[in-house]
Amino acid sequence: MGDTIGRLHSVQSLGAVDGPGLRYVVFLQGCPMRCAYCHNPDTWDAAGGEPVTLEALMAQIRRYRSYLLPHGGVTVPGGEPLAQPAFVAALFRQLRAEGFHTALDTAGAGSAEAAAQTLPHTDLVICDLKFPDEARFRQYCRGELSRTLAFLDQTAAAGVPVWLRQVIVPGLNDTADDVRALCRTARRWPNVQKIELLPFRRLCLGKYAQLGIPFPLADTPECPPETIAALEKIIKNDS
Ligand code: SF4
Repeated sequence: MGDTIGRLHSVQSLGAVDGPGLRYVVFLQGCPMRCAYCHNPDTWDAAGGEPVTLEALMAQIRRYRSYLLPHGGVTVPGGEPLAQPAFVAALFRQLRAEGFHTALDTAGAGSAEAAAQTLPHTDLVICDLKFPDEARFRQYCRGELSRTLAFLDQTAAAGVPVWLRQVIVPGLNDTADDVRALCRTARRWPNVQKIELLPFRRLCLGKYAQLGIPFPLADTPECPPETIAALEKIIKNDS
């Protein structure tokens, strides 16, 4: 297992919102999408980050074993974790063998083969379903909604539970109709356990400035908590 190498952006040793219980969060490097509100543009470059061996990463994670078990585990976001399927599959296989719960935090922006490689070792998928239609998905994420939908089909076939997420951006996807569309889409898959709405924030502005990348939503205000509360009611009434 020591020979398997991934490219790591960073780790967070004890997260509380990325899956059940306390989580060790492994941010992998590389993402094929370019979401207008991305908080981690420094993960985009697949050649960036630091190489890490599976064994070295496992050694770090084991130090937190007593905090993470029995209720928590390890969550792998990116970037896009499906960009490194062999590494994620090997990591999850080893984690499970040692009793850790495994969660893949993804936009579903990987190949069908990448999903097939990782899902058999995944206990939970957290999937960001970014926009309700292909036009907005392409415009604001430079990706394909159909790819994410196909990925979610694969999670259903594999019987892996899913938490769906959507970042709510004022003026882009914050209407009642947008959230009703999200609920309708979510009903396609029996394995979706919940839908979470996250407010658009502008905390990443400094990071963009540092990297010299223009922030596409520089003029967009943050999403107020009242909007999220109102939209959550729609989800609740729909279920
Ligand atoms: S999928 Fe995630 S990491 Fe990739 S651009 Fe979008 S928000 Fe950023």
